[in-house]
Amino acid sequence: MTATAYETVIGLETHVQLNTRSKMFCACERDYFDTEPNTHVCPVCLGMPGVLPVINAQAVTFTILTGLALGCAIPRRSKFDRKNYPYPDLMKGYQISQYDQPLCTGGGLEIQLAGERRLVHLERVHLEEDTARLLHRDDGSGEGYSLMDVNRAGVPLMEIVTKPDMRSAAEAVAYMRKLRQTLRYICVSDVDMEKGSFRCDANVSIRPVGTDRLGAKVEVKNMNSFRAVQRAIEFEVERQARMLASGGSVAQETRGYVDATGETVSQRSKEEAHDYRYFPEPDLPPLECMPELVEALRARLPELPDAKRARFEREYALGAEEARALTETRERAGAFEAAARAVKPGRTRALAHWLLGDVAALLNSGPGSVELAATPLTPEHLAQLVDLVEDGAITAATGKQVLEAAFASGDSPSAIVEAGGLGQVRDEGELARIAQAVLNANPRAVADFHGGKESALQFLVGQVMRQTRGRSDPLSAAQALRRLLVA
Ligand SMILES: [Zn+2]
Repeated sequence: MTATAYETVIGLETHVQLNTRSKMFCACERDYFDTEPNTHVCPVCLGMPGVLPVINAQAVTFTILTGLALGCAIPRRSKFDRKNYPYPDLMKGYQISQYDQPLCTGGGLEIQLAGERRLVHLERVHLEEDTARLLHRDDGSGEGYSLMDVNRAGVPLMEIVTKPDMRSAAEAVAYMRKLRQTLRYICVSDVDMEKGSFRCDANVSIRPVGTDRLGAKVEVKNMNSFRAVQRAIEFEVERQARMLASGGSVAQETRGYVDATGETVSQRSKEEAHDYRYFPEPDLPPLECMPELVEALRARLPELPDAKRARFEREYALGAEEARALTETRERAGAFEAAARAVKPGRTRALAHWLLGDVAALLNSGPGSVELAATPLTPEHLAQLVDLVEDGAITAATGKQVLEAAFASGDSPSAIVEAGGLGQVRDEGELARIAQAVLNANPRAVADFHGGKESALQFLVGQVMRQTRGRSDPLSAAQALRRLLVA
């Protein structure tokens, strides 16, 4: 039996750190990145006995906003529970989480893969607290040791759980990308996989094609990039298929992904699985989400990626791919719309080409890619540049030079054109004079052209372009040359 006889079933649990000012249940500063270990701590997040947690209202708001963006229902009542397990990163011996009454239920996220659209259904979105961070060290003696940083303990953590709806590693990655984009749009998290503010566990199983029953579920952890998600799932699917093909069975267990080898290794078997003994958190009141509050939050939602993409196609006469690229981030979409308001009518498509081509190249030329708003180039100046080129005041080649200058200095394109004398050579007499000078200087090419070698003309056009430093348009230059050559 081969691997193709099986169907892959994947469900994802994504943990998202919310970018609130303070932690989930205390007033400690939430942002611990680039801070000294164990400096953002207090008796509450250190798990001292006798302290009382207080719910972070902003974290609840962000979670409900996320639920609304993902089409979830927001039940009227919700509560926090204690999830008990003994692990050194858990300060109190339990984590405050949500068990049977999460803040958001149901919902889904539409992904697009190879032109096909699919809805990935969600189970729930709930709120909990992050754990402390353990850093495992090896001093070379063979006896490793661990360091603990409690700064991360108590950071608001939102968990988004899908139904087992995905059928390939590629679908799982498409879902993760779409989720990250959506969360960025609503500004609830940094969603930075490297920093750990956006991380996922995958439940992977395979089953014979045509059956509905789920196979033994393997939970894969430790994936810190989209590439890791892809490779870990692909490895896991192959491993399970190999086991079944050789007559064995897949054991239900937790496995960790090892980036260096691209493999998953067993961490915990089903027998070793914890019984979390959930029970309601006695120190926190249940939450009541009033419908008015939910509606007020719904009104606060920005236009989401799919809606924006469809509107861009319609309003700005863009192709599907252009609209998708321009709406990748809210910032990029905003820059495009600001420039679209400033550019002359009928030129939004030309504007899109500049923004996705030469401007994007400049934005990506540094160590990391930046948004337009972080550069001296304003959307209005970009619109002006497009108009200068479309009006024929400057050539496309000059436009690129002007763009680079405006990008670096923040000067307006028209000022740059004027100061540099970069206006297009539109005077036919001037162009003819330059063309004649080029012909005089290149008798060999002229002879080649008369000998029937059309490509010689391209060379001569190049010479005219060089003489005018790109200020002539190649078509006009070719016409001027041809006129003189056949005269
Ligand atoms: Zn604290």
